[in-house]
Amino acid sequence: MSDFPTKAKVVIIGGGVVGCSALYHLAKKGWSDCVLLEKNELTAGSTWHAAGNVPTFSTSWAIMNMQRYSTELYSRLADEVDYPMNYHVSGSIRLAHSNERMQEFERAMSMGRYQGIPMEMWTPEQAKARYPFLETHDLEGVLYDPTDGDIDPAQLTQALAKGARDLGQKIVRFCPATDVTQKDDGSWIVHTEKGDITCDYVVNAAGYYAQRVGEWFKPYGGRTVPAMVMSHQYLLTDEVPEIEAWSKENGGKLPLLRDVDVSYYLRQEKNGFNLGPYEPNCRGHWMTEDDPMPEDFSFQLWNDDLDRIEDIVTDAMERVPLMATSGVGRVINGPIPYAPDGLPLIGPMPGVSNAFEAHTFTFGIAQGGGAGKVLAEWIVDGHTEWDMWAVDPRRYTDYTDQDYCNQKGMEVYGNEYAMHFPHHEWPAAREKKLSPVHAKVKELGGQMGAYNGWERANWFAKPGDDTSLEATHTWGRSGPWEKRIKEECEAVRDHCGVLDLPGFSRFMVTGEGAAEALRGLITGGLPKVGRINLVYIADDRGRILTEMSCVRLADEAFMMITAATAQWHDRDILLSAMPASVSVEDVTTTRDTLIVTGPKSRDILAGLSDGDFESGWLTHQSATVAGREAFLIRVSFAGELGWEVHALNEDMPVIYEAVLEAGAVPFGMYALNSLRIEKGYRAWKGDLSTDYSLLEGGLERFVKLDKPQAFPGKAAILAEKQRGVAKRFVTLKVDAGEADAPYMSCIRHGDAVVGETTSGAWGYRVGASIALGMVRADLAEPGTELQVDIYGELCRAVVQADAPMWDPDNERLRA
Ligand SMILES: Cc1cc2nc3c(=O)[nH]c(=O)nc-3n(C[C@H](O)[C@H](O)[C@H](O)COP(=O)(O)OP(=O)(O)OC[C@H]3O[C@@H](n4cnc5c(N)ncnc54)[C@H](O)[C@@H]3O)c2cc1C
Repeated sequence: MSDFPTKAKVVIIGGGVVGCSALYHLAKKGWSDCVLLEKNELTAGSTWHAAGNVPTFSTSWAIMNMQRYSTELYSRLADEVDYPMNYHVSGSIRLAHSNERMQEFERAMSMGRYQGIPMEMWTPEQAKARYPFLETHDLEGVLYDPTDGDIDPAQLTQALAKGARDLGQKIVRFCPATDVTQKDDGSWIVHTEKGDITCDYVVNAAGYYAQRVGEWFKPYGGRTVPAMVMSHQYLLTDEVPEIEAWSKENGGKLPLLRDVDVSYYLRQEKNGFNLGPYEPNCRGHWMTEDDPMPEDFSFQLWNDDLDRIEDIVTDAMERVPLMATSGVGRVINGPIPYAPDGLPLIGPMPGVSNAFEAHTFTFGIAQGGGAGKVLAEWIVDGHTEWDMWAVDPRRYTDYTDQDYCNQKGMEVYGNEYAMHFPHHEWPAAREKKLSPVHAKVKELGGQMGAYNGWERANWFAKPGDDTSLEATHTWGRSGPWEKRIKEECEAVRDHCGVLDLPGFSRFMVTGEGAAEALRGLITGGLPKVGRINLVYIADDRGRILTEMSCVRLADEAFMMITAATAQWHDRDILLSAMPASVSVEDVTTTRDTLIVTGPKSRDILAGLSDGDFESGWLTHQSATVAGREAFLIRVSFAGELGWEVHALNEDMPVIYEAVLEAGAVPFGMYALNSLRIEKGYRAWKGDLSTDYSLLEGGLERFVKLDKPQAFPGKAAILAEKQRGVAKRFVTLKVDAGEADAPYMSCIRHGDAVVGETTSGAWGYRVGASIALGMVRADLAEPGTELQVDIYGELCRAVVQADAPMWDPDNERLRA
């Protein structure tokens, strides 16, 4: 084939809506020498049969950003690329059957408005006026989103493809990629049935085949893609005269309806209905040996399975009785890939250089536009406009075996519209990674949560406490856990607490040149040998990439400790920044960590150890504890006198028992969250994210602009310092009602939204609800009165002094 491209800047594998959107957005950013490969015809995967709904609703800021951008793009795309298509902005109504659902809607509405989406809360009567065929007697209320709608997925994909081609990109159809080879210089050869293409970057956008394509990257550091495939059905009814009449009279479509508590969408399709249930008794496919994934499933569907969705269809007919007047014309039953949390994977491929991914989309039509933008930013700029950790492929690590993916995919699908309450832990596929003292933690009443696959106690129940999942169905602070968290915090404040923290990510960075390379990476200074510093890494814009504890063991030997969930994210950062002479070794799994903290922690540890417990804050030492080798670091995320005790897994049970026997009280992650927020300690990917610069985050004391090394972000931070920051990090004392402020609650000043919370919790030592957040710089003065919108309730909030609310001078830490 003479015009077959043999060279490209980027090769995208997969011609669904997402691959085409990525190709278009790369071209819009000026990269117009890219190639997209499609094994069949464009849209042959999941895209061709999608229902085409394009919501903006989400309780995730990042997902809402991506979906909002899609709607904005789709509104102008036909003109932008000169390709007419059917995009109906009909608006949508989301029905609430409970007070908790109303609170969820209030939160989404407030976030939506902050993003410029004019959502509204409606009474059932208002909904009935707009949707006369609706039964409303049992509804609490309705969320109306005027920007919701539906699009023809095939036309959308073709429009993106046309736009890309017009800007110089190449699309090769009926050309399966068959393998990849990475060259020594990091560039790639993508092998296809029609020949090889050499490229700088490669993208896996292969939809439900992404796992198969992902296997090719294993020799270059890749992993099995965490995904599975669900069967999703929607049914199309025959035409309904009343709908036709309504449409004629009102000049448009009925709003899209989602009865989220029953779990379906219902929208007008021509003059009939399209009903799509997410049934609890759902069906995964290609999960067992007797149901293998076919070599090719292009443009295919499964047979109908109406029994599975019968209950929901019946319910929908009661909600909109008009539905019952028409017959079922057609059923579409097609594959949707699911990641374990139902969100796509967009961004750098973990462990593999110059490779990216954008696949496993459950709502790829709604998210495709935004996903293309995000992926193009990753590839061209190395960072994204909005923090996209929610969809970053590195959020999963090695615990996502196929059993995990299958169980989680089924759980997410069956609870597609479920509310995600703050004290609720989803039960499927648990216990993938266990601490060496897991059994003991459970015996003590530990109510477990999963953190990067590791089981940690969230709180410790006492006999008689209600530990049911139902008890967690609240947005509020109150629940069986509240009394226990308070007791745990008080034990840490007055005596000594112990928290088992498996999966604390640890990297040994050693070898000639390690210190200099780290100085060129972090924004601040390195600790002296024997000491520990908190260090930050910025991106080129001076925004916060990550935070680590840097423990200096010797001149050229460091232990970098970071959040459990940051394991692969931070590993990739360290690996890419170190020269060949420096080794980066992930030693996360060989050791477990205890946090032993509280005013009596010194006495307790000294009684068990040969260590020096008079050594100062931010020092470390090797010592025995209960006769076992341990590594002790004098820090406390809880903000009290305390030590982290790191020890080999096999030694930890003895140490844990000894610490407990000496009187330490077990405490959990909920208490730790409360304790850290009282100290103003930031949490990664809440308070610390690429949505904020280090200067905005109030982290200037961790930046050394006068050091000679040109660390990432240095120039940007310098420029921002001269210019002045637009927003500032603040601690707020909130007159909260039943709930503390969740992430991304809007902060108001009068009628204006002036910022957002990044986390919130009750502080039991200070006896107040606390929120950390970002506000307009001129409103960051201590004493400024603001309001925080917590699930629709406007709560008075006062900016606190720029010091921790608990122990502002760190006297207890240094004791
Ligand atoms: C019944 C149903 C209804 C849905 N309704 C909606 C909805 O209303 N709204 C919504 O947002 N989403 C909906 N979805 C989901 C949506 O269809 C998907 O999320 C979306 O189509 C995914 O797009 P994609 O580009 O990631 O994957 P795909 O469309 O699957 O594209 C991947 C492409 O990669 C190609 N490919 C694979 N391997 C290779 C290879 N080796 N070489 C070259 N090419 C390769 C495939 O042929 C395929 O064309 C629905 C899905 C189903 C099943």
